[in-house]
Amino acid sequence: MKYYDEDSYRFHKKDVPDRCFCCSQKAERLLIMRHIKSQMMVHLCPECMIENIDDYLLDNTRPWTGPQIK
Ligand SMILES: [Zn+2]
Repeated sequence: MKYYDEDSYRFHKKDVPDRCFCCSQKAERLLIMRHIKSQMMVHLCPECMIENIDDYLLDNTRPWTGPQIK
């Protein structure tokens, strides 16, 4: 089974990178989650993530290749 698949990490059409997919607010820190209904990746603020934990899935199976920001 192949885990690395670009198509599995497509972002939702309505997702905007610097805004929360759920509440549309700009947030300092956004988390990338999988929207279970559409199976697409979306950005979420921490508040929405906690409030809507049943609708989203933390998908961290993709190897991180970017720099580590501290
Ligand atoms: Zn939000």
